[in-house]
Amino acid sequence: MKLEIELIPDSTMTVNLRQYMSPYRWRQLSRRIQERDQYTCQLCGRVKGLDIDKLHCHESWAFDEPNRIQRLTGLQSLCFQCHMIKHIGFAEMNGWVEKYQLIEHFCRVNEVTAADYAVHFQEAVLLWMARNRIDWTVELGDYIACEKSNQETE
Ligand SMILES: [Zn+2]
Repeated sequence: MKLEIELIPDSTMTVNLRQYMSPYRWRQLSRRIQERDQYTCQLCGRVKGLDIDKLHCHESWAFDEPNRIQRLTGLQSLCFQCHMIKHIGFAEMNGWVEKYQLIEHFCRVNEVTAADYAVHFQEAVLLWMARNRIDWTVELGDYIACEKSNQETE
C-alpha cells in the first residue's frame, strides 16, 4: 500500500526533529523538502497551489526492534489528509478531522475498500501495541548533525 498508517509509540510520540530546531529553521527545512518534492504530496500526488493549500513535512521512521532503536530515515512532503492518516490515532484523539473523510482518502489513494482499511488499521494498532512495550532510543542521524553544525556557524 502506498499510504500506510504509522503509529508512533507513546513514549516517543513527542520526540521529533522539529523540537530540536527553531521554528524558523524548521520552516526553512520544510521549504527545502517541498522544493525537492516539487510541491507534490509524495503519497497521493496532489500539488500545492493547484489541488491543496499547503504541504506538511512528515518524518519517516524505521523501527529496529532487536536493538530498540527508532531511527529517522527521511522527510517527505505530504498533504494534510495523507499526513493525518499516517498518524490517524493522533488525529482522532485530537478530534481534528472527520475520520470517514480520511478513510475515503486512504481507500482512494491505495485503491482499496473500507474493509481493507479496517484490516490495515487493526494491524497498525497491534504493531503499535507491540512497539509500546519497547523502551526506544531515538536516533535523528544526519538531520540533527547537520542542524547542530548550522547552529555553530551562526
Ligand atoms: Zn496526499
